[in-house]
Amino acid sequence: MAKILTILTIPNQILRKKSEDVSSKKLAEKKLQALALNMVKTMKERDGVGLAAPQVGENIRLITVNTKDGVLILFNPKITKNSFAKEWAEEGCLSVPGVYGKVRRNKKINCVYFNISGEKKKISAEGLLARVIQHEIDHLDGILFIDKAKDIQKADSINL
Ligand SMILES: [Zn+2]
Repeated sequence: MAKILTILTIPNQILRKKSEDVSSKKLAEKKLQALALNMVKTMKERDGVGLAAPQVGENIRLITVNTKDGVLILFNPKITKNSFAKEWAEEGCLSVPGVYGKVRRNKKINCVYFNISGEKKKISAEGLLARVIQHEIDHLDGILFIDKAKDIQKADSINL
């Protein structure tokens, strides 16, 4: 049974460390599989649209994303193509509670990753999904949306 994990909030320094790639050997381990499923449960429970492993205390390159078509689990996600077009939109973050601000991100991206079975996959995303993936990959590099945001305000917003 998957369990709900504690989400770290600022100024916890784990959120500021660069996370390590997951080896294919490690990816097959039960511990990491369980972590991924616990992250999915935690993301859904907290009404997040995305979650990155550092947010639950693990500095590894693993993110989960809640899309309208279901949940994605991405190990070692890497953006391979960015659209020239960028757009501003509002973001929030479960690790920065009660704060939101506008962040400029690429409108469309291509991203390669390994799924939970260790298969290499590619996704083309735009709009909110592209935004969520960029926000979560930033977490893996120790970057928080407040580092990039303008018009930072305190209120409820979407949680990434
Ligand atoms: Zn976040």
